[in-house]
Amino acid sequence: MSTPNAGQPTPINTTCPYCGVGCGVLLREARETREAKAGEVPGVSGDSAHPANLGRLCVKGASLGETLGDHGRLLSPKVRGAEVSWPAALEAVASSIKAAVDSYGPSSVAFYLSGQLLTEDYYVANKLAKGFIGTPHVDTNSRLCMSSAVAAHKRAFGGDLVPACYEDLELADLLVLTGSNAAWAHPVLYQRMKASARPGRKVVVIDPRQTATTELADLHLALRPGTDTILFNGLLVWLAAAGELDQAYVAQHCADFDEALAAATVAAPSVAAVAQACDLPVADVETFYHWFAAEQRTVTAFSQGVNQSVAGTDKCNAIINCHLATGRVGKPGASPFSLTGQPNAMGGREVGGLANTLAAHMDYDTPGAKARVARFWQCQAVADGPGLKAVDLFDAVERGEIKVLWVMATNPAVSLPESDRIRQALKRCPTVIVSDCVAHTDTLDCADIALPAAGWGEKDGTVTNSERRISRQRRFLPLPGEARPDWWIVSAVARQLGYGEQFDYQSPADIFREHAGLSGFENRGSRVFDISGLANLSDEAYHSLAPTQWPVPAAGARPPRRLFGDGRFATEDGRARFVPVQAILPAQQPCDDYPMIVNTGRIRDQWHTMTRSARAPRLLAHRAEPFIDVHPDNARDLGLENGAMALLESERGRFVGRVSIQAGQRPGEVFVPIHWNRQFSGEAVATALTDAVVDPVSGQPEAKHGRARLRPWRARWHARLLVRENRPQRWRADYWTQQPLAGCTSWWLAGKAPVDWSLHGRDWLGGPPQLVMQDSPMGRFRAARLVDGRLEAVLLVERDPELLPAVDWLAGVFAEEEFSAATRRQLLAARAVDTEDIGALVCSCYQVGEKQIERAIAAGAGSVETLGAKLQCGTGCGSCLPELKALIAGAAGVAQEVGAVSALLSSDTGTR
Ligand code: SF4
Repeated sequence: MSTPNAGQPTPINTTCPYCGVGCGVLLREARETREAKAGEVPGVSGDSAHPANLGRLCVKGASLGETLGDHGRLLSPKVRGAEVSWPAALEAVASSIKAAVDSYGPSSVAFYLSGQLLTEDYYVANKLAKGFIGTPHVDTNSRLCMSSAVAAHKRAFGGDLVPACYEDLELADLLVLTGSNAAWAHPVLYQRMKASARPGRKVVVIDPRQTATTELADLHLALRPGTDTILFNGLLVWLAAAGELDQAYVAQHCADFDEALAAATVAAPSVAAVAQACDLPVADVETFYHWFAAEQRTVTAFSQGVNQSVAGTDKCNAIINCHLATGRVGKPGASPFSLTGQPNAMGGREVGGLANTLAAHMDYDTPGAKARVARFWQCQAVADGPGLKAVDLFDAVERGEIKVLWVMATNPAVSLPESDRIRQALKRCPTVIVSDCVAHTDTLDCADIALPAAGWGEKDGTVTNSERRISRQRRFLPLPGEARPDWWIVSAVARQLGYGEQFDYQSPADIFREHAGLSGFENRGSRVFDISGLANLSDEAYHSLAPTQWPVPAAGARPPRRLFGDGRFATEDGRARFVPVQAILPAQQPCDDYPMIVNTGRIRDQWHTMTRSARAPRLLAHRAEPFIDVHPDNARDLGLENGAMALLESERGRFVGRVSIQAGQRPGEVFVPIHWNRQFSGEAVATALTDAVVDPVSGQPEAKHGRARLRPWRARWHARLLVRENRPQRWRADYWTQQPLAGCTSWWLAGKAPVDWSLHGRDWLGGPPQLVMQDSPMGRFRAARLVDGRLEAVLLVERDPELLPAVDWLAGVFAEEEFSAATRRQLLAARAVDTEDIGALVCSCYQVGEKQIERAIAAGAGSVETLGAKLQCGTGCGSCLPELKALIAGAAGVAQEVGAVSALLSSDTGTR
């Protein structure tokens, strides 16, 4: 393969590979990256010319340079555990597909793709599966993310078409954020919303939990989970009764209003009924409804909190109904807006990556589509379709109907509900092929054939963000080992299967041109997704392609910022459809055995199953272990203490995490993060707690509403183990979590059985320790192992986890080639005498900890501005600002209490 960009001058503009905001990233001195010394990272900054972020980055994007490097990468193809050459691996893949097709038919082969793939990778995988192997079973992890929003847009607008653009979030006079913790999940959009605050601009956050995003709210509706449909149905009923509809717009541009209003009236007849069903104060519901009626410029942004539900599609349509009823679709500052989770969820949908679609925004039942696509691809026929959606697909794997499953760039053994069952299904599948860039994931552990894929910085192509903007991900690193781009791997398999002529791509530019060509092929205005104006880009023009919104139906065409602003929709008659929506409550209702509702979601500094983001130590400093957010009442009733361990048990799985008592949780509900998996913790896979129940329209699983029982998880001992060499460990620990640090790996450990540390400590340390301190009656053991004068491992054991010291200082000692006698004496204390304990990291950009901030507040820093001036915290990406405010507010609350107590005491004194 050629090496693109070999002679390209730096800096290089590329795109962040994490969330659907799709921020532009600038790489300085990129050519030196591969040769950079350990600890050095390429300069990464936000691209001020990119319209999505205008120079901003969140901490995940800003840390991208730290995630690069060959360690932990899958660098060679493997067949059943043995390293093989590419020709042998390709032959193994092709022969397994051939054998399955010959014996069981094309539908015995399935592909499970990912919103992490580039559009070009997606395109060739979809083409090979549907056009040449002939299987319709091509689905994607985007099914878990936004398929409900897609289904709702298709029902209402006639296509998978997002009308809004990011600027609308700034222009809106009323921002409604529902099912979206944008401050953590879409941080740069949140920063844009925050920066556009002005007198009179209002924000309503609809979320059962108090989150970092509610800090922006003028009104927080902490509704009962799963009742969003009732709230928005109630809004429609209220708007109609109050005479606040845009009657002319409804009459001219929409259909089926009466049916939708009738259904809404059944579900939400009055504000009082809504308030009761949603468990909200009547006054708050009325305030929301009045504000919605008053502000023409209203954007309702929604995300996984709405989508991941058995009624996700209905919830989205309930929102869209209200926007149609007020004529607020596709206008500046006025639109419903689905915020996509993944960096290329939309690009995947463009090519047809969802099982119910065919290609280029054509469904299987789109008149003439199958023949049209077959003509374009020059194949005999495409699959009959539609294929199986993710949950159904893995059910088919479990039943033995899928003989070959090819998983690309995703980790279904962690991300799908009932993940323990998914792992078993994968193990039973005759041939599981996994393309990934890392060496170990829970899914790769089940792979028969592992294919090393290129990672961010090594691959080249395009992604499409939430506002329909196509951006280039550019290559700036050579391919490590035998890694290859996914498009190359798929095309090579296609050639091996005998389809060389149709997969004779030399570069991603070739694929992009074909993809763009298909979007316009026999289109004649029938499909809004049309980028055929880019179908004739030269290699050079593709290489320098600026971020571009679609559609681009002709070369040089100026893409519209928004869709449907003129009231013409993508339905046959040009009218949008109101959708009658019933109130369907969550399927996984709490019961006597499993009384707690389990909500799952993202945290600020991690991404998906941590394969990439955990490579940057600072991204694990904010939340280092899996945790369970619990309301104080539940904690008290169940005997749970903050920082202690607890166990969540569902009918199907377990989750062990550290208790985090949060007054912002609703009683009876817990929140757990989705990121930890079996590579990073023993029992902390959130999807083990949720059933595989799905929305009947979209097939999206109900990930936001599991059920479980909660109880303390008590251990006899707690330990921190730091090891330089992170060998695969088989700890005799009932609880373990791994935290990669800069010069070592830290393990959080706890056990229920007694351990004779003087006997077994050496096993944990990898050899005999040179320094030992033991206090058996206290349950304390500390030991350090040195090799050739370097620190090799440290073990710290306590009965009470509160007594375990912070390990920041120790972690720094691992980076030292030599250390002083004084340092050696301090190893078992785990801190230098003059080292400041900074506490849990709050500001990842400037590495500022909670205890530092508390000390600064106690010394008089009473605002985020003064904290920023003193410590720099909050002055980088800004993601920690809500936490800074909470710490200031918490300190003020304590001061008030102290004041009140003092006043009482002094008045008592006075009366005595
Ligand atoms: Fe990346 Fe953060 Fe931008 Fe999302 S918001 S694309 S994670 S920099």
